[in-house]
Amino acid sequence: MIKKVDHIGIAVKSLENTLPFYTDVLELTLLGIEEVESQKVKVAFLQAGGTKLELLEPTSEESPIAKFIEKCGEGIHHVALGVESIEERIIEMKEKGIQMIDQQPRLGAGGAQIAFMHPKSSTGVLYELCEKKGMKG
Ligand code: ZN
Repeated sequence: MIKKVDHIGIAVKSLENTLPFYTDVLELTLLGIEEVESQKVKVAFLQAGGTKLELLEPTSEESPIAKFIEKCGEGIHHVALGVESIEERIIEMKEKGIQMIDQQPRLGAGGAQIAFMHPKSSTGVLYELCEKKGMKG
């Protein structure tokens, strides 16, 4: 049911300060920057071969990413698994006893439908199910 690792989410204090590492040192292509109002984050996507890196900068102290950085510092925040039919996948996960943070898919960056699993029931990793409607790859 998992198609691939769609992207890895990385919490950063400042996109401006961290992007040069990704674009100049690693020479990855910056796909774009957008603000996701609902999560109070500014997001930058970088292409890294068949998968992507998603840099998340909080735009408010109320952002879940701001709270994450406060607790754990900057670094890997979540792993996004690419799926199809995300509503069905959520139901399937719940049937398998997985606690979902999102009971319904919600809108993420890049127009994707996303839903997070609770790390307590997914071996300590914050996993995001991610479906890009009408987009392949
Ligand atoms: Zn993500």
